[in-house]
Amino acid sequence: MRSTITVANQKGGVAKTTTSVNLAAAFAEAGRRTLLVDLDPQANASVSFVAPDPQAPSMLEALAGDVRFADIIRPTAIEGLSVAPSRISLAKLERQLLGDLDAHYRLRDRIQFVYDAFDAVIIDTPPTLGLITVNALVASDYLLLPLQPSFYALEGADDLLDTVEQIQRRPNPDLSLLGVVITLYDSRTRIAKDASRRIRSHFGRRMFRTRIRRNVRLEESPAYQESIFSFAPRSAGAADYRRLAKEVLERVEANRSS
Ligand code: ADP
Ligand code: MG
Repeated sequence: MRSTITVANQKGGVAKTTTSVNLAAAFAEAGRRTLLVDLDPQANASVSFVAPDPQAPSMLEALAGDVRFADIIRPTAIEGLSVAPSRISLAKLERQLLGDLDAHYRLRDRIQFVYDAFDAVIIDTPPTLGLITVNALVASDYLLLPLQPSFYALEGADDLLDTVEQIQRRPNPDLSLLGVVITLYDSRTRIAKDASRRIRSHFGRRMFRTRIRRNVRLEESPAYQESIFSFAPRSAGAADYRRLAKEVLERVEANRSS
C-alpha cells in the first residue's frame, strides 16, 4: 500500500525542502518507487533533481489546466525516484482557482491517476498555510513537521495543527501527524538545546528520535543535482537523513498494521 507524506511548516528556512528531497532519495534507495511532488512555486525541490525545462508543462498546468498529472512527471538520475516539478507559475494557482468549489481537491483528484506507479509520495510545500498547502494535506495520509530549534520554533506550529484538525474533520479523515523532526540542530548553541527540550516536551511521543544536525554538505548537494547519499555518503547529513527515513518507514508500517 502506498503512503503520501506532506512536509509542511508555514515558516521558511526550516528545512522542509531539504527534508523532502533527502527522504525521497532515501526511500528510493530503500527500493521504494518514490514520487517527489514539488508544490512550492520556488521550485527548489524540483531543481534539486532535474534541470528546469521552461517548455515542459508543470504543476500549475496539472492542477489548474488540462495537462494530465502523469505528463509532468520526470525521471531523475536516482533509480526509483521521479519528480513532479513546479515552477514560479504555480504562484498563480490561488487566483486561477478562485471560486472553484473543488479548489481544495485538485491535487487529490488528479494525482490519483499516477498512484499505482508509486509506493511512496512525498510532497514539499511553500512557507504558507494557503490553498497549496491545504491541497497537499487533503491529498495526504501524513504530515511530517520539521522544526528548527529556535526561540520562535513553536510559533505557527499550532495554526498548522489546527488546519490539520479541520481537514481531518471534513475532507480527509485519514490525515494524521506522522511526527515532528528537529532540523538544523547546532549542538554548540545553547538556544538549540533549550528550544529542542521545549519542542520535545510539547510533542512527546510524536517526536522522531532522530535529530538533523547542521551540516554544510546538505546545503551543497542540491547544486549538483545529487542527494546527500551520493554526494557525501559519509557525512553527518547522510547519516541523519538515513536514520530519519528508517524511523519514518517504521512508523508508517506500524500504523498500517494497527
Ligand atoms: P525550507 O524549505 O523550509 O524553506 P530549506 O530546506 O530550503 O528550508 O532550508 C533552508 C536553507 O538551509 C537552505 O539553504 C538549505 O540548504 C539549508 N539547510 C537545510 N538543512 C540544513 C542542515 N541540516 N544543515 C545545513 N544547512 C541546511
Ligand atoms: Mg522549501
